[in-house]
Amino acid sequence: MEQERAVKILADLIRIESTNDHESLVADYLSDLFKGYPVKLERVTYAPGRDNLVVTMGEQGPLLGFSGHEDVVAAGDLASWRTPPFSPTIKDGQLFGRGTSDMKSGLAAMVVGMLDLLDSKQPLPGRLRLLASVGEETGEYGAAQLVKEGYASDLDGLVIGEPSHFNIRVTHKGVIDYYVTSKGVCVHSSTPDKGQNAIMPLMDFALSAQELMDSHKKQDPVLGSLTHVISQIHGGDQINSVPASAWLSGNVRTTPVYDNEQIYTELAELIADLNNQGAQLAIRYSFPEVPLPDQSATKLARLAQEVVRQDVGRLCELTAGNGATDASEYVQAGAFPIIILGPAAGTTDHEPNEFVAIADYLAGCTLYQKLALRFWQEYA
Ligand SMILES: [Zn+2]
Repeated sequence: MEQERAVKILADLIRIESTNDHESLVADYLSDLFKGYPVKLERVTYAPGRDNLVVTMGEQGPLLGFSGHEDVVAAGDLASWRTPPFSPTIKDGQLFGRGTSDMKSGLAAMVVGMLDLLDSKQPLPGRLRLLASVGEETGEYGAAQLVKEGYASDLDGLVIGEPSHFNIRVTHKGVIDYYVTSKGVCVHSSTPDKGQNAIMPLMDFALSAQELMDSHKKQDPVLGSLTHVISQIHGGDQINSVPASAWLSGNVRTTPVYDNEQIYTELAELIADLNNQGAQLAIRYSFPEVPLPDQSATKLARLAQEVVRQDVGRLCELTAGNGATDASEYVQAGAFPIIILGPAAGTTDHEPNEFVAIADYLAGCTLYQKLALRFWQEYA
């Protein structure tokens, strides 16, 4: 594809304000690009205006998945942007705008790679499936839905185009966000014995949970320790009343050494213990994400590294990350290898003046095309 058109596709995507919503507009735009080609287009609706898009090409042979999210985070403080976040602007070889790095450049490069393969008019020795998801930034529920509905079950490998600057992220931590609420009985603070203070058992929980999580000393060889932070706490309404309610939130970053299930069990046991002593605590979780176990020994990681070095001419190291991706959902779909490999540098993700170097984006277009060809060859 002409470079100009490839850049236009990315710029058009940046113009779509898919801020934690409106992903259907991205799905519409991408669907139009594939019109007239021999592909299977499937819309998977999460909510009104929020469509995942699945595009499958090829008739037979090994199936490689390309994963990218359609949503972007909010622009934040507009005064801090030198250019309007949803009016893509090119300056000194860099394209500025919300989502240029995270991760519409990865998504667009995957689409351009697919279109180039389709335009080559040669019989394809394998299959490709684009999994464009909603809500990655707010809980990965789009990918969760695609997994649940079977769109990932038959994959032989998956590449997630999050910014990695051509390095390959082969593992990352999981995330458990939890909320604990505490109920008490409100009375005048001069007669505390008649009421029940909701804050005190919540403090017991906070201290015990921290001690419990800190006791997980075993390190993952790459990801290191599990971490735990009590991140918010709130309780009471008035200085001279016994508080009837209180809540806190916590954030655990898990590793494959102590998986999410184990942590849920431990927290549930702690809550049950405190409730047996008279507390009225309840816990709920918000979109927990499991860790991505180390993929560095997989054939996919090896051949992707070769493609980056030989066909794209870039440095390529295997790396680890603390943040979760859609991999946390896809890893639950089957035993296929998953890597995170994208063109953008990722240095300005979620920040004002987010950008991608145009040369990186165009190299990404080549990368995904070549990677598909090598994958089909190796997995045939
Ligand atoms: Zn992202």
